[in-house]
Amino acid sequence: MFSSGIRNRLIASFLLLIGATLLTLGGYILWFFHQNNTERLTGNLLTEAKIAEQLLHPYMRGPREKASIETLLRELATKVDHRITVIDNDGTVVADSWENPASMENHRERPEVVDAITGGQGSAIRHSATVGENFLYLAIPMRDGAETIGVIRVAATMAHVEAGFNQIRSVLLIAFLAASVLAVLLSFRLARKYTAPIERITRVARHMGEGQLHRRVHVRTGDEIEVLGHTLNNLAASLDDKINEIVAEKRKLELILANMDNAVVLLDRYGMVTDVNRQAAVLFGITPAMIGQHNIQVIGLGVLEKAVRETVGEGQSRHIDLQTTLSGVKRVFQVFLAPTFSPENETAGVLCVFHDITALKEVEERQAEFVANASHELGTPLTAIKGFAETLLDGALADPNLSVKFITIIQEEADRMHRLVKDLMQLARLNSEEIRRQVSLEPIAVAQVAETVIGQLYPQWHAKKLDVTLEAAGEPVPARANADWLTQVLVNLLDNSIKFTPPGGKVTVSCRRADGKAVVTVADTGSGIPAADLPFIFDRFYRVDKARVREGGGTGLGLSIVKFIVDTLGGAIDVKSSPDEGTTFTVTLPLAE
Ligand code: ADP
Repeated sequence: MFSSGIRNRLIASFLLLIGATLLTLGGYILWFFHQNNTERLTGNLLTEAKIAEQLLHPYMRGPREKASIETLLRELATKVDHRITVIDNDGTVVADSWENPASMENHRERPEVVDAITGGQGSAIRHSATVGENFLYLAIPMRDGAETIGVIRVAATMAHVEAGFNQIRSVLLIAFLAASVLAVLLSFRLARKYTAPIERITRVARHMGEGQLHRRVHVRTGDEIEVLGHTLNNLAASLDDKINEIVAEKRKLELILANMDNAVVLLDRYGMVTDVNRQAAVLFGITPAMIGQHNIQVIGLGVLEKAVRETVGEGQSRHIDLQTTLSGVKRVFQVFLAPTFSPENETAGVLCVFHDITALKEVEERQAEFVANASHELGTPLTAIKGFAETLLDGALADPNLSVKFITIIQEEADRMHRLVKDLMQLARLNSEEIRRQVSLEPIAVAQVAETVIGQLYPQWHAKKLDVTLEAAGEPVPARANADWLTQVLVNLLDNSIKFTPPGGKVTVSCRRADGKAVVTVADTGSGIPAADLPFIFDRFYRVDKARVREGGGTGLGLSIVKFIVDTLGGAIDVKSSPDEGTTFTVTLPLAE
């Protein structure tokens, strides 16, 4: 529609130009023709008037002579086409070649007569109602010396001049119409020629506007329109490049945001949630419908809202620690809040990055708890040693019986400390990443290790008159493990069973394959573990009956070392126990095949 507008305007301009040119030219031609013919006719009439004046002059002297003018004039009129009128100087028509002078009115006021009397010659064109045509009148005075004795007027019809004029006008009109039709056709063709490339450019530009930036303009007009096409192509190409660059950057950012461990939430300056990454959506249960709501509604943490307000107010980034409960689980986050700025350098919003430090906090808490427990465990025997040593120094040394008793207690407490320190060092070693990396895993025949361990602990179980047996499957059970670690596991389990089984009881160690795993069980007929304690027995320093067990020399670290080793080996440990019936520990390890 835009190009048809241009086309119409081009056509209108052509027509206007051609019309104006033809009208001016035609008008001039018509004027020139009319003027020229009128002048020629005037010249002829003047000649005729002068001849008539020469002929008729003698007859103007007196009334008698004037009477014969009439006859003379009629005679003359038969030879000349034009009408001749002789007028007296008072305006009375003396004679007329076409009309009866008696019926003619006074001619004193006729402009050509007035001009002839005053200026020597007068002419006028007037319409004759009698003949129904336009006439050219030319009048000259008849003089007798200096005296004007009358006026001779010759008139000729303008019909020939006008007929010629009309003919030329018709020809010019036809020429004008033909030229106009030609101009319309030509202007249509020309307009289409000029507007077609513009239409093509417009079409491509519209596609570009709709996002099809790979489209290109192909026009070869060799003028400014071709330059326009090239410019549009360059514009689209650079726009395409820029958009691709921006899209790639955006994808990169989205990829980073989607795959980072941290939850990211973007808020506007009023605290409304404007964007979140996948982790944030999962963590806080944010649905797309919640975007645009206030963070208090979406995340529901007043501390965060306060920090957001401070960040917006001060325009500076900060860290805060946040404790919350999500889906019933206690979570701790370190939140980094950074202000975002608008192009006008005003705070536009706040970027919140949630770094989950729950595990870190737990480790910290566990470490603190561990240090407290270890200090307490070491402190107890140390206090006892110190107390008995002081008692000895205070005089008990003098009593040999008391001395032996106290020194025995000191030795037992020192042993306990020694065991505790040994276990602690063992735990520290297992905790060491370096050592765990260096340890070599190889096929270990489980039954052999069990047999060795049973042999090592023979003094203990023999002293308690326990029946310890090994039940090994016929086929070998090679576990993928480390010999020292597996020995440690079995020593700890068997040692517990011996400790917690009353004399005369039974302890069975068995090795077998089950479901493609190596399975070792240590079952006893001992005191068993109350159900309430079962979930905690693998915790560090946990003892079921603290006073009694401590007497028995337990450190409360044995099972935690076992669990640590089994987990590190990629296995699992399970316990089944009922008080007074006995306890069964089942260790499952990967087979070394
Ligand atoms: P400890 O060195 O004190 O034995 P452990 O970590 O080995 O520490 O065991 C933790 C607690 O689990 C023990 O104090 C004991 O109460 C209980 N326990 C472990 N093994 C047995 C078992 N075979 N029979 C009864 N109770 C046991």
